[in-house]
Amino acid sequence: MTSHRFWHATTLALSAVLLLVPQAAGAPAPADPPDRAAALRAATPDRPSYDVALRADGDGSRWAGRQTVSFRNAARTPLRSIDVRLWGNGTDGCGTPGSPSPVRVSGVAGGTPRPLTVGCTALRIDLPEPLPHGARASVSFDVAITVPDRVHRFGRDGAYRFLGNALPLLSVRDAQGRHLDPDVGFGESFHTLAGDFRVVLDHPSALVVPATGTTTRRAGAPGRTVSTSVARGVRDFAWAAGPFASKAVTTPGGVRLNAYWTATTSPEGVAVDLRDAVGSVDEFGRRFGRYPYGELDLVMSDDLDDFGSMEFPGLVLLWTEPEGSAVVHEIAHQWFYGIVGNDQFASPWLDESFAQYANERYYRLDTATCWDDQGMWPSDTAALTRSMGYYADGRRSEYVRVVYRRGSCALHDLERTLGGPSMAGLLRGYVRDHWLGVATTEDFKRAAQAATPKDLGPFWTEHRIR
Ligand SMILES: [Zn+2]
Repeated sequence: MTSHRFWHATTLALSAVLLLVPQAAGAPAPADPPDRAAALRAATPDRPSYDVALRADGDGSRWAGRQTVSFRNAARTPLRSIDVRLWGNGTDGCGTPGSPSPVRVSGVAGGTPRPLTVGCTALRIDLPEPLPHGARASVSFDVAITVPDRVHRFGRDGAYRFLGNALPLLSVRDAQGRHLDPDVGFGESFHTLAGDFRVVLDHPSALVVPATGTTTRRAGAPGRTVSTSVARGVRDFAWAAGPFASKAVTTPGGVRLNAYWTATTSPEGVAVDLRDAVGSVDEFGRRFGRYPYGELDLVMSDDLDDFGSMEFPGLVLLWTEPEGSAVVHEIAHQWFYGIVGNDQFASPWLDESFAQYANERYYRLDTATCWDDQGMWPSDTAALTRSMGYYADGRRSEYVRVVYRRGSCALHDLERTLGGPSMAGLLRGYVRDHWLGVATTEDFKRAAQAATPKDLGPFWTEHRIR
């Protein structure tokens, strides 16, 4: 995510700490071979496949239908329950009697639901029997979504509806346990594994509906259209609905860009965004690995001042002004967040710093003195590898300064340390090695160290990458 005003994104990166102490205190347990130890704690459930059918009301404010998700138990230990995250409730929580949560789930089949937790953003479903390693199961439920009345990634702008983070998603359990982090109200707390989606949206034909994935449309009941979107290898699914104007272009590199904009968005801004999107999606494809999703939707509004812009797989929501938007930053997130996933709560720098670095590099900004220009660290406790919990705990003012600015500057410094060709090789290899997977700070440090004979220990210390 980003904003022109950068208003917006810890605890120590817990992953590295916890990985050192996986055993309970006491007598040392017999060591598992590394592959077995990893398998025991493999991120699970994985390989999710979502099948969703939703029907909209007359103006796209309410969507209701059925969602099925199948999944595999990747861990060696039996899977007894799954957690579903309802991130759309992050702001409104459990609602009030007269105003229920924006995202509601009911009619669960394939398991037994427990009461909602974490501000009504987490739903545990107990499976009818333990799921063995490698086996698949599925759950289904009714979903009712009401788009909140605020300008937001899950919100509205006049006649336009934005449904980012609206669809329930499977949570992750791994070596650190269950990921039940809260939505802290800024930045992102999300962490999901890549999966496949087939989402059928039945909506009034007057509504244009951009969505993650490749979308085909057919006539529905009189006055209605059925849009079917298929996406593979994505961590989330977002859509929008409204009387958007639209234009499609194909980049020289073969990526189809679909631009959608609201009536008040400036044509100059749309043109600037399209130009920068064409240039950056192809450049990042050459630099980090070819964009894998075929098409990319740009959803633009000039009314997102108080929110900013936001990345979703195959769809970016942009606050577009006459001079353009953060489109290049958000497109960079297709690689750093989308293709290479990360736990956005534990390690926000792994997507934000990388997206901002790629953005600054695309625009050929002079970063030679970025470290000096930014002054000292904002506090003794600031570090690039802090989690969202740290920022939410009275340190929000450090978030943008550290995660976006110091983080991108650290990566420019790393490029100066390694040299341009080595940095390019490092990033290309890092993306390839974690393609549609999840990377950690340790993974990146290991890859960087392998790219140079220099000892990067002092570099990590100086840049507070722990
Ligand atoms: Zn961002």
